[in-house]
Amino acid sequence: MKNTISTYIPELIAIRHDLHKHPELGFEEKRTSGIVAGYLDRLGIEVHTGWARTGVVGVLRRGSSNSTIALRADMDALPVQERSNLEYRSTNEGVMHACGHDGHTAILLGAARYLAEQGDFDGTVLFIFQPAEEGGGGGRIMVEEGIVEKFGIQAVYGMHNRSGLETGVISTRTGPIMAATDNFEITVHGKGTHAALPHTGVDPIIIASELVSSLQTAVTRETKALDSVVLSVTQFIAGTTFNVIPDNALLRGCTRFQSNEIGESLREAMERITAGVCAAHQARYSFQYMPGYPPTINTAAESKAAAQAAKTVVGPENVDDNCPPLMASEDFSYFLEKIPGCYIFLGNGIHTQSHRSDFDFNDDIMPVGIAFWTTLVEQELGEKRDAETRGKGEKN
Ligand SMILES: [Zn+2]
Ligand SMILES: [Zn+2]
Repeated sequence: MKNTISTYIPELIAIRHDLHKHPELGFEEKRTSGIVAGYLDRLGIEVHTGWARTGVVGVLRRGSSNSTIALRADMDALPVQERSNLEYRSTNEGVMHACGHDGHTAILLGAARYLAEQGDFDGTVLFIFQPAEEGGGGGRIMVEEGIVEKFGIQAVYGMHNRSGLETGVISTRTGPIMAATDNFEITVHGKGTHAALPHTGVDPIIIASELVSSLQTAVTRETKALDSVVLSVTQFIAGTTFNVIPDNALLRGCTRFQSNEIGESLREAMERITAGVCAAHQARYSFQYMPGYPPTINTAAESKAAAQAAKTVVGPENVDDNCPPLMASEDFSYFLEKIPGCYIFLGNGIHTQSHRSDFDFNDDIMPVGIAFWTTLVEQELGEKRDAETRGKGEKN
C-alpha cells in the first residue's frame, strides 16, 4: 500500500460522510459536483463541469505521451428513506446513499489527490464523476455528449463496492460482468361484461394470467440453457370490483440478460407469444418493449490490466479475476460500448446489502480503492506497458 495515501484518508472520510449526510438524486447532484469540482480545482487539476448536467470531469496531464485513460465514479443517491443511527445519516428526507456512490466519489477524489501530488506516469488521466447511475443513464448522456472524442479516451475503468465480497477483495472478469435490463408493458384488450355471463365478453384476466406463465417459455424453451436470462412480470393490474369482468389487463415487468443478441430474441419471442395467446382467445393487445442499460462487457486486455493492478495492491490471493457475472445492471456499459475498459468490484464486507435502508459504505476499503486506481494509472501509463497494445483491447 502506498504510504502517503493513509495520510489523507481522514480528509476523505470527512468528505464521504458529508456527502452521505447530503445525498442527491440523479441529475440533482449540484452540491456534490460543487464539492468535487472544488476539490479537483484546489489540486490544480483542469475541471470541466456540466457534463450530463451535473457531471464533472477532471483532466490531469503529465509528460508527452498521448495515452489517455479514464477512471469513473458515480455520484447519485437513491430514493430510499435511511434507517440508521449514524451521526452522518441523511438529512435529505427520502433520499439516501444506499449504493455507496458517496464512497466511490471520495475514493476517486483520493486517487486524484495522489496522482496530482506525486503520480508517476506519462499521459493523461481523466477523472469522470458521473450523475444518475441509478436509472437515469448519466453515463449514456456523457457518451452521447462526446466525452470519449473530446478527451481522446483510449480505455475506461469503473469500480463499485460490493456487499457480500470480503473487505479488501477485488473481483472482475473478462466479458459480461453485469446484465442488460429492459422493461416491458403488455395490455390485453378484452371485452368487459357481467361476471355471471363470461361468454358475452372476452376476459382479459384469464388471458393475461396465461401470458404470465407462457412468457416464461421465452426463457425456458427458447434460450440456451447456459445463457443467464431472467424474465419477471412484476405488475398485474386489472379490474375494479367483484362482479365485473374488466375490459383490459395490464402486465409490466423486466428482463435481464448478458448479450444484446439475447435481448433481441427475447423481445421477438415475447411479442410472438403475446400475439398468439391473445389471438387464441380473441383479444387484442398492445406490446411495448423498452430497452434499458445494455450489458456491461469488459474487454480482455483491460480486464487483465485491472486484475494485475489489483494483485499488486491486495495480493493475488485476494483477487478473483474470473468472478461470476451479476444480473444487476450498470450504465458504465455505455462507456464500454464505445471504448475498451473494465469494471471491477471492491469487497465492502458482508454486513449490509446495497439499496437497503440500513446500508452504509465501508470506510475501511477506501485506501484499497485509492491504491487500486493509482496503481492502475501508474501501471497503464508507465514505461512498462507497450504503447502499441494500450487501449487496443478486443470486444468479446
Ligand atoms: Zn445501486
Ligand atoms: Zn451503485
